[in-house]
Amino acid sequence: MFKKILIANRGEIAIRIMRACRELGIRTVAVYSDADKNALHVQHADEAIHIGPAASKESYLDMEKIIAAAKKTNADAIHPGYGFLSENASFAAAVAASQLTFIGPSAESIRLMGDKAESKIRMKQAGVPTVPGVEGIGAENDFKKAAKEIGYPVLVKAAAGGGGKGMRVVQDEGELSEAIESARREALHAFGDERLLIEKYIPNAHHVEIQVFGDQHGNLFHLFERECSVQRRHQKIIEETPSPLLTPELRAEMGEAAVRAARAVNYFNAGTVEFIFDPDLASLRHGSGQAFFFLEMNTRLQVEHPITELVVGLDLVQWQMRVAAGERFPFTQSHFTQRGHAIECRLYAEDPASGFLPSTGKLLQFSEPRGPGIRVDSGFTIGDEVTHFYDPLLAKLIVHAEDRERAIQRMQAALKDFIVHGVLTNIDFLQAVLAHPDFANGEVTTRWVETNFNWAPPSEPSFEALVAAVLAEVTVPGSRFQVSGSRYQVPGLNEVDPYSPWKTGSGFRMGAN
Ligand code: ADP
Repeated sequence: MFKKILIANRGEIAIRIMRACRELGIRTVAVYSDADKNALHVQHADEAIHIGPAASKESYLDMEKIIAAAKKTNADAIHPGYGFLSENASFAAAVAASQLTFIGPSAESIRLMGDKAESKIRMKQAGVPTVPGVEGIGAENDFKKAAKEIGYPVLVKAAAGGGGKGMRVVQDEGELSEAIESARREALHAFGDERLLIEKYIPNAHHVEIQVFGDQHGNLFHLFERECSVQRRHQKIIEETPSPLLTPELRAEMGEAAVRAARAVNYFNAGTVEFIFDPDLASLRHGSGQAFFFLEMNTRLQVEHPITELVVGLDLVQWQMRVAAGERFPFTQSHFTQRGHAIECRLYAEDPASGFLPSTGKLLQFSEPRGPGIRVDSGFTIGDEVTHFYDPLLAKLIVHAEDRERAIQRMQAALKDFIVHGVLTNIDFLQAVLAHPDFANGEVTTRWVETNFNWAPPSEPSFEALVAAVLAEVTVPGSRFQVSGSRYQVPGLNEVDPYSPWKTGSGFRMGAN
């Protein structure tokens, strides 16, 4: 097993990986930028090494600096987490070329799955169902012909795409030229690659993905699905497992398709095969009809991996290290079952009233819920600064309960107990989704938030939030509202006392709501 691992990431995922390392007796190295000098992930590591300015491009995305840091600290492996360099085939290759182990799949698997057009062709060859469409066309007339054959509406996608960039829904032929042109421009600008593909647009789609896992000895299996249809602008917000829509037959079929997909690129370590799922097609089909289609494969650990960990009872991150070190899986597919129901909510520092723009500032209060079946993966603590440099994900709140109904109740109660002041959050938004009958019925499609969910944020901050803000301002120096010397001054509270009961948002609630 490795003796020391460098974690090429920050925030909650860096801490999650460090926890796994600690349990395995592996020392950890954090990397940090100027903006993260005092960040929680740095405090969690056994060693930390500075890698540059706040801008990711010059720090967390700088391959050379990260590999040099690993060399300097005598680490024997690098865990990339998610985002940043995790799906960069050149990075994986450079790590291996430096006599270090990349904790993930091979550079070749990453490369093959990184291209939407190439991976789709490969999947078709492997017998994995893909959305009807055409890859590798250049001339506009060919696009027209292809779109007519597929039937409108169609979706134009960038082959090198990611994060929904370069994607356009086209309703009819009149919109096609314009969509192709703008998608090309966006793709060229974002990825330096203007290749496009075109496919059938499936309007009532659910996003259902399958976790796969493999060792380096040819053992490969799936760990069931995650339903991730609650999305805003193609970004997942709430994920759950099991999916409320899958029958045991569909689950087995999708699982097998995912394993086939992974096998086609000689996959090992953790990966996720994303499918687009149409429940109408599923209820209509008579054996041969297709209800799910390959979207893409993420060749890394996913943000939402904890719900699978809870339901399957496996520490995915520890197994990532064990298989990277060459260990053989002692399991077979039939070893795994789904126990209970798990849900994850992504808590973002953002302002729902201004179109969900990131909200920055100092965390005057940050009190995480606790209790049976509650897990919080977060990268912040009270007093931390939320900056505009990185993703505004504050925490992942994950619950596990015996069934879906109880998991929803547990999540609602836990969200109520999650107290954040100093930045705005999407907690009210998450509560409104969880309370919606469409969510209860499992009828949320990937477009639902934008098209069916009429939710307006409360226009006034709550009384509780206002009182907490005032109290926190008295106790935290250098903050926005200057109330020192006012009647809110409490003797002794000007000293920063992290244990003062007045610093806990619930301290003065006295059980009242
Ligand atoms: P990206 O890599 O840019 O995230 P994906 O191919 O993974 O692009 O698609 C992102 C999201 O767009 C999916 O989660 C799904 O909601 C939607 N989507 C993708 N392809 C289709 C399609 N053919 N029909 C309907 N929705 C789609």
